[in-house]
Amino acid sequence: MYDIIIVGAGPIGSYLAEKLARLGHKVLVLEKKATAGQDICCTGVVGKECIDLLEVDTDNNLIIRQASSAKFLAPSGKALRLRRNDEVAYIIDRPALDLALANKAQASGVCYLFGTYVTGIQTGTDCLYVEANCQGPKKLFETETAVIATGFGAPLSQNLGFGKIKELVYGAQVEVEISGFDEVEVYLDQSLAPNGFAWLVPTRNGKGIAGLTTHQQPEWHLNRFLSKLKAQGKITSTEVIPGYGVIPLRPLSKTYADRILVVGEAAGQVKPITGGGIYYGLLCAGIAADSLHQAFLAHDFSKQRLSSYQKRWQARLGKELKVGYWVHHLYGKLGNRQVERLHNFVDSNGIPQSIAELNDLSFDWHSELILKMLKHLAGAIPRRAIKSAPGQKAATG
Ligand SMILES: Cc1cc2nc3c(=O)[nH]c(=O)nc-3n(C[C@H](O)[C@H](O)[C@H](O)COP(=O)(O)OP(=O)(O)OC[C@H]3O[C@@H](n4cnc5c(N)ncnc54)[C@H](O)[C@@H]3O)c2cc1C
Repeated sequence: MYDIIIVGAGPIGSYLAEKLARLGHKVLVLEKKATAGQDICCTGVVGKECIDLLEVDTDNNLIIRQASSAKFLAPSGKALRLRRNDEVAYIIDRPALDLALANKAQASGVCYLFGTYVTGIQTGTDCLYVEANCQGPKKLFETETAVIATGFGAPLSQNLGFGKIKELVYGAQVEVEISGFDEVEVYLDQSLAPNGFAWLVPTRNGKGIAGLTTHQQPEWHLNRFLSKLKAQGKITSTEVIPGYGVIPLRPLSKTYADRILVVGEAAGQVKPITGGGIYYGLLCAGIAADSLHQAFLAHDFSKQRLSSYQKRWQARLGKELKVGYWVHHLYGKLGNRQVERLHNFVDSNGIPQSIAELNDLSFDWHSELILKMLKHLAGAIPRRAIKSAPGQKAATG
């Protein structure tokens, strides 16, 4: 019998597995893909705090480059530059990260079974049975507890009664050959990426990643974005296979049950403004490891005890997720003329310079900064958009 079975060998599942093994637990990871790091759709932009948490050597090949500036483009093409003296963000090789985390977990004693698709989890007397399809007949694995780290959209958590996150955006990206630029670019344009944004991120060896988030037709919008970049001479090749994903914008209302936790993107632990899920997922995995360890010490795997996991991650992330979702919703109400006005307002009020000079600027914690900025910007945002925004009390109060 295992202490913990983790379903999913993404960054969150493997990070959690390694933490639990180091606490002395017998851990098995079940992953449907043939290896870790396969078929991944992620640009790999993370903040410095994420790198620190991962304990990744900054000279390591995992880090493709550091970023201390970014260009934000309005619908008209007008650019606003945010430049810092220090590195705020890093672009990592995401497939290599997944592989490195799985290797690290295996070196700590975690067992992995790849090519194993988990179809269900049954409750037994004093244990769980995890049901999986490996090559051959269906297998049952006996365990004290289980963690669902399947990423977003896998049916497992919904089948187990954890509910469904309905607020989502589509993400699409593609590797491109780039020419003549060396800085992260963010495109704020509702016709290019409705209710989302588009990006062009330089990586290495003359390549980059072009991508976007949107509420509709990701493929069509990505093609349009690529044509625009090509016409501007920023990219030279688009003949590559794009990747698509779906990103949750809100967390599950319940992420624990008797003997089971849900963590990472499967739980909706994602920054709603950018769709970035690596850092928040890792933070929650750390909390999940500690909550499970405490449950083992008390030999109590009841939902009452495991509810401490949810209380702790909500205390850490709740405000960020609420404010982030509110900003996402508000932005979606703006037309391009209003986006342009906001862009001009931010520029003419010297906001990029003020942000650049902040001592405590973080790539991952936005709520305080956003609330301060919104007070300045209140006049530039249409009242009807503010009135119709969900959770506006939480964000403005
Ligand atoms: C276009 C795009 C760009 C993005 N860019 C960024 C970025 O720059 N920075 C950032 O922080 N985030 C980014 N994200 C989000 C990021 O990719 C996710 O938040 C992150 O992968 C979540 O990690 P996870 O381990 O929770 O899930 P995943 O990485 O999805 O891993 C889940 C694993 O579970 C496995 N699995 C699923 N179901 C089963 C099952 N039933 N049985 C066995 N195995 C199963 C899957 O095969 C997968 O390997 C981006 C997303 C998209 C779509």
